[in-house]
Amino acid sequence: MHGVLDQLGRPLHDLRISVTDRCNMRCDYCMPAEIFDSKHRFMHRNELLTFEEINSIVESLIPLGVKKIRLTGGEPLLRRGLEDLIQMLSKHPVEIAMTTNGLLFGGRGKSLRKAGLNRVTFSLDSLDPKVFEQITNTSGEKLDSILNAIDEAIECDLGQVRINSVIRRGINEQDIDRLIEQFEHLPVSLRFIEFMDVGNHNRWRYNNVVPSSEIHNYLKKRMNLIPIDSTHRGEVAKRWMVEGKRGFEIGFISSVSQPFCGDCTRARISAEGRIFTCLFASKGTDLKSIIRDEGNKNTIQNVISEIWKSREDRYSELRSKTPKPGTIVLPKIEMSYIGG
Ligand code: SAM
Ligand code: SF4
Ligand code: SF4
Repeated sequence: MHGVLDQLGRPLHDLRISVTDRCNMRCDYCMPAEIFDSKHRFMHRNELLTFEEINSIVESLIPLGVKKIRLTGGEPLLRRGLEDLIQMLSKHPVEIAMTTNGLLFGGRGKSLRKAGLNRVTFSLDSLDPKVFEQITNTSGEKLDSILNAIDEAIECDLGQVRINSVIRRGINEQDIDRLIEQFEHLPVSLRFIEFMDVGNHNRWRYNNVVPSSEIHNYLKKRMNLIPIDSTHRGEVAKRWMVEGKRGFEIGFISSVSQPFCGDCTRARISAEGRIFTCLFASKGTDLKSIIRDEGNKNTIQNVISEIWKSREDRYSELRSKTPKPGTIVLPKIEMSYIGG
């Protein structure tokens, strides 16, 4: 089999795997503390896909065209023995990346690299301890350990380290400058991400979105930005080099103002094994019960192949075409569940 195409001609290249729905932060736009409190029911251990099950799903997806895997969550580093999973997955011809808040990364860079992790992305929205605390519900004192973790990742040769920052109006716009000053001397890619209307609890308003064009126009006046060509279909970030700052790169992910559904080559698997073909999909297909009840590789491969072939998702594009830019009212699932 040489890959599958969906209804809009998009191949299946990337797989995001959420390895846990739990997190050690409570970002207000993702897992607000008042909702994800002690009464919230997180998944039980036996509800999660085991490492063997994840590995067997990945194995059956390679012939369908999957080339990249991103481990995410919740917070992926909370999943015990993550290195063992990475080691299993590294036997396949895929690039393995991870997105983390960095709190538990310190001291693990080498073991993650040795297990086969190729790249790491850190999510960091503010360098101001008070703002960081306000956003993440986590002590601002932890910022140092995250910055140390980023240094460690660079030293461990984990590809070009990425820093993702969701910039929201009136909350952390000041961080655009702060983040650049912090990282411009390092070989990292700093990516500004538009605040998206994922999930049901993040009080998303169009007015809180800071469009990439606004940040780009602001930065253009301060520095000479040189465009970098995209390297492959499905690359979501528009990237720029900064004159005089070797190795440093600025990227924009404009999911709201310039949706890239036409090039979206991603499927997502939740920690309990449901597959989703769009970040905004409300229904997934339960792979776990297929694996546990009757499973064999061909069945999973056939099921996913059929799902992908019938895929028509393009939520962000449709949202951008609504007369008043805003959210489309749909039952949605949470980012921490589906994996960001
Ligand atoms: N806990 C890990 C972390 O924060 O990196 C991985 C999971 S988190 C859901 C993945 C990414 O999703 C983070 O970079 C986070 O900022 C982003 N994210 C969550 N909700 C978002 C939203 N509404 N709009 C844009 N990005 C969002
Ligand atoms: Fe946790 Fe990441 Fe969501 Fe923040 S963005 S609450 S760190 S899963
Ligand atoms: Fe892909 Fe759905 Fe996002 Fe469009 S809205 S880019 S189809 S995940």
